[in-house]
Amino acid sequence: LIRVDSPDDVMKKYVTKVKKIPDEECPICYEKLADGSHYTEDTDDIVLKLSKCGHLFHRGCLHAMYSCGPKDGSIQCPTCKTIYGVKHGNQPPGRMDYHIIPPSLQGFPECSTIRIIYDIPPGTQGAEHPNPGKRYSARGFPRHCYLPDNEIGRKILKLLIIAWERRLLFTIGTSATTSESSTVVWNEIHHKTEFGSNVTGHGFPDPNYFDNVLSELASQGVTEDCLKD
Ligand code: NAD
Ligand code: ZN
Ligand code: ZN
Repeated sequence: LIRVDSPDDVMKKYVTKVKKIPDEECPICYEKLADGSHYTEDTDDIVLKLSKCGHLFHRGCLHAMYSCGPKDGSIQCPTCKTIYGVKHGNQPPGRMDYHIIPPSLQGFPECSTIRIIYDIPPGTQGAEHPNPGKRYSARGFPRHCYLPDNEIGRKILKLLIIAWERRLLFTIGTSATTSESSTVVWNEIHHKTEFGSNVTGHGFPDPNYFDNVLSELASQGVTEDCLKD
């Protein structure tokens, strides 16, 4: 699944070289575009333009950004978040399971409930993580999450499965809840982990939840279009 193309091979699908360099800063290093990248040893003065959004960067800076990520053949514009290729994350290994349970969620008395179970054990960080070779912890697993078993709930489940396969649902970082570092944390795609009430804000009712999670999925490149192929 993970491709190992060089940054040059990846980039050439998404960029064009800029001949007339404008008097602007590179959004990655904040140096003038005309002055060359400070992230590369050779004084690389090539400026690249991303094809869809048109934003400009030092070639060296785009290469450095790609090399810091999951190196999956995709890049995301750091300025406007436009995604080129299929974005993957660095979610550590684990399991995603789901099943139907009979009780209803608040606000959905007519249907049963999808329960998703994520189980991620602790492990050792890989090259794609902040501190390769260092251990990471994994707290509060298995984590249980809920969706109504109706049309919108089933659609969100399908998109979450794609996001799981692309390693987008969790990452390794510092937990905002516990302040623990080098631990498995949620990665910007919200889940409902509270059943039957909404004391934590991570339960139902939440009239905006479906729109919110769909837009969080879309900002990681996971949209209804992904369900067609
Ligand atoms: P975090 O606290 O770094 O927050 C990352 C994102 O997850 C934020 O957007 C936040 O809104 C969301 N989030 C926080 N708590 C959530 C919850 N209970 N349900 C759904 N989303 C939540 O992320 P984290 O450290 O991965 O998650 C914290 C949650 O994980 C805790 O509330 C708890 O449920 C669980 N946890 C349990 C233990 C334990 O020892 N039992 C330890 C750490 C975390
Ligand atoms: Zn730069
Ligand atoms: Zn852009």
